[in-house]
Amino acid sequence: MKYISTRGQAPELTFEEAMLTGLARDGGLYVPAEIPTLSREEIAGLAGLSYEETAFRVMKPFIGDCFTDEEFRGIISRAYEGFGHAARAPLKQLAPNHFLLELFHGPTLAFKDFAMQLIGQLFQTALARRGDRVTIAGATSGDTGSAAMEAFRGLSNVDVFILYPHGRVSEVQRRQMTTPQDANVHALAVDGDFDDCQARVKDMFNDFDFRDGVKLAGVNSINIARVLAQVVYYFSSAVSLGAPEREVSFTVPTGNFGDIFAGYIAQQMGLPIKDLVVATNQNDILHRCLEGQGYHKGDTQPSISPSMDIQVSSNFERALYFAYGKDSGAVAQLMDELKSGGFEVSQGAMQALGETYKSGRASEEETLATITSELAASGELICPHGAVAVKVANEQREAAVPMVTLATAHPAKFPAAVKQASGIHPDLPARMGDLFERDERVTRIANDLAALEAHIKANIAS
Ligand SMILES: *Cc1c(COP(=O)(O)O)cnc(C)c1O
Repeated sequence: MKYISTRGQAPELTFEEAMLTGLARDGGLYVPAEIPTLSREEIAGLAGLSYEETAFRVMKPFIGDCFTDEEFRGIISRAYEGFGHAARAPLKQLAPNHFLLELFHGPTLAFKDFAMQLIGQLFQTALARRGDRVTIAGATSGDTGSAAMEAFRGLSNVDVFILYPHGRVSEVQRRQMTTPQDANVHALAVDGDFDDCQARVKDMFNDFDFRDGVKLAGVNSINIARVLAQVVYYFSSAVSLGAPEREVSFTVPTGNFGDIFAGYIAQQMGLPIKDLVVATNQNDILHRCLEGQGYHKGDTQPSISPSMDIQVSSNFERALYFAYGKDSGAVAQLMDELKSGGFEVSQGAMQALGETYKSGRASEEETLATITSELAASGELICPHGAVAVKVANEQREAAVPMVTLATAHPAKFPAAVKQASGIHPDLPARMGDLFERDERVTRIANDLAALEAHIKANIAS
């Protein structure tokens, strides 16, 4: 299995190389050269298996021979052993034929743990074998950073630097990033918004002297290993609901497009997914683009679902690559136009996107109203990200097709909005009850490439 860049100018890599590299050297994102498929029998054979065994069978074709079966089974088992639910990704019913996929039982209470815990174990195994060490830099709108720090803390061959927008993450998110005491994980509060953080990380990767000097690696949602880890719960949930005999639809609260793109891969692998619905908050650039209005950056409006507050949706590049029939030249040109504000999508690519994705948006008021109404209707307390998706799912779902809505975070990660809508203060699970008493460790830093690079160089273990 080979991995190629969406922009066509970077070397082909194996799974392990693509994972350790993150962003391709031509600025593009790695994608599998061919998406492998599972037969109907293989999909039917997933019924009743553990989450871990499902993960092994779904991801194995992407991994090739980078890890032995025994190594890979061990990696998966260590990745998910810290989860607080035996099913890892349990389904809960909200209404007739409407299900919530709870993806928040990992150590940082958000779905990012599914990919990050796995990638931590994959990195550790690969680097130990190579006798190598790397520096991981990542930008976060809140949940990626804590998931990365939790997954990599204490590992001897990795330093982790996480950039988050100062003052724009929830207190629980911030504390999850500033309280790990392990010397190899570092929280950086940047004076800027999430797009600034993401842009500075991209700049570091494009500064080849720095990149090679500190052996920079990325675990942001652009990392193909993360996307592939997320393909698994589309299979586990759809099979629980009757796939491959029955079609299933999914609604996904979307920001960087990694999670929903994993759904596209599952569909291409042969999982009978009817609709893939992109749900956005008031930062609805993706919804507008999918409605045919082009992709044009504006200002980010801070919302109560902050992990979706973006203008530059990195993984959308992968969706465009496939919608443009794998034309990497066309993708490179669109991404060039994006630097100066935005681009229009060709008619052919719009048609391809329209065949794959539906979309909708929820305003702040609609998000709050959905938390309130869902509590009354089903007794479920839903975080604002999940509420955005439930609102959109209710508009889009068809009675005869099961709809799975992804609940990407635990309500206790966003207590202010949840309390405002429901009157209930959601408690953290007992295993995190002392989060507010732990000491915080963070460096406030300018939105400036030179300052960031100097700080990282000065703080890596060598
Ligand atoms: C990251 C995140 C999202 C958005 O996921 P993408 O893969 O970036 O589209 C949604 N909800 C929560 C809680 C998140 O942490």
